Amino acid sequence: MIKHSLSSQDPEVDAIIEREKKRQKEGLEMIPSENYASAASLEAAGSILNDKYAEGYPGRRYYSGNIHIDEVERLCQTRAIKAFGAEGYHVNVQPYSGSPANLAVYLGLLKPGDTIMSLRLDQGGHLTHGSPVNASGKLFSFVFYPLNAETEVLDYEAIQKLAEECKPQLILSGFTAYPRKVDFEKMAAIAKSVGAISMADISHISGLVIGGSHPSPFPFADVVTTTTHKTLRGPRGAMIFCKEEFREKIDKAVFPGMQGGPHEHTIAGVAVTLGEALRPEFKEYAAQVVKNASVLAQTLLSQGLKLVSGGTETHLMLIDLRPFGPGRGVFVTKALEAAEINVNFTTVPNDPSVPFYPSGIRLGTPALTTRGMKEKEMEVIGTWIAEIVKTFANVPLPEEKEKRSQAVKDFTKALEENEVVKKIRERVNALASKFPVPGIDA
Ligand SMILES: *Cc1c(COP(=O)(O)O)cnc(C)c1O
Repeated sequence: MIKHSLSSQDPEVDAIIEREKKRQKEGLEMIPSENYASAASLEAAGSILNDKYAEGYPGRRYYSGNIHIDEVERLCQTRAIKAFGAEGYHVNVQPYSGSPANLAVYLGLLKPGDTIMSLRLDQGGHLTHGSPVNASGKLFSFVFYPLNAETEVLDYEAIQKLAEECKPQLILSGFTAYPRKVDFEKMAAIAKSVGAISMADISHISGLVIGGSHPSPFPFADVVTTTTHKTLRGPRGAMIFCKEEFREKIDKAVFPGMQGGPHEHTIAGVAVTLGEALRPEFKEYAAQVVKNASVLAQTLLSQGLKLVSGGTETHLMLIDLRPFGPGRGVFVTKALEAAEINVNFTTVPNDPSVPFYPSGIRLGTPALTTRGMKEKEMEVIGTWIAEIVKTFANVPLPEEKEKRSQAVKDFTKALEENEVVKKIRERVNALASKFPVPGIDA
């Protein structure tokens, strides 16, 4: 096989990838949905399996020549069931990513217009959990349950009550910006009590679930969806687990309902990732992710910052910037980015600002933990983040809508010469250089 042909074939694309490698190595990736896939899983995902059409499922394909493709897809399924302890469930490993996986579940098990209950989007729900700009929100009738206004955690009694009132066909749990553990057993019991299907979307926490650091939705939820590239740290893809009774509907909804040919190269990469997740080291990884998040949260709190729900029990946390004023998330995110610490701005529960200029930032520890960072590094990084927040969160968001984007541009430009940013960036680069990135340095 010809190796390393990209640099000679297409130096332009190769140079972009090299620049991105440098960025990933020299900075700190703290977006909690991101991680570093292993060199082995990337190799499988970049393999010649890319070239094969395999519409259908193992043993019943619409194309010939699929003996080896069947092997790899079946291996991925077997490993998925084993890794999650999901005996008795069927798993479909073909969804291209988390969003189409969720849509396939809704379209497969419900009729357009049916009622789905999910967490309000500004409180930690996902785009595909009923946002009006997403197909989910356009095709189905969503009823949102809120977090408890004071504790900012799930209120299971309120969810039960709402379920009895609105009689949904499906109740969704599992979130994108929620720092606390979810009681999937309770959520499934609520769904059962009103005759609804229970669905858990564990996209963010699936690595923690496999590692035993977060309660599992198995064997409680009827359907479980997950991405493969967040705490699970594989190639970008998704899986749908379901109880046997839903098997046919789910498989039909994915193919031919939503998709044509599956991405078997990705499925091979996911199989490699699941093989890694089945090793004892992965348990240690998951536990360290949560330990690191806990230390990072404690550091931020001790620096006087406020966290949504007062802390974290998972891999992520949300800094509530409301004490500085509404709409400060963008400025803080830009300042951290200038210091090469990547996080993302996000709404906080009952955010007084608008979604594009929200009042919080979301950050987490999966990628840094993959690089081998531990408690000591989290304390240091937490102190840097707190210094940046306190330096820049006081910049007001202009009241006038039309002045906002220019204000952010001016602010970002001024960061280039800022002494606090320069000082912290140097320290970030020095720290990062000591920790290899799997897939780059392997
Ligand atoms: C990330 C995420 C998704 C969507 O995954 P994509 O691969 O980005 O489409 C769905 N649900 C939740 C809860 C997520 O966090």
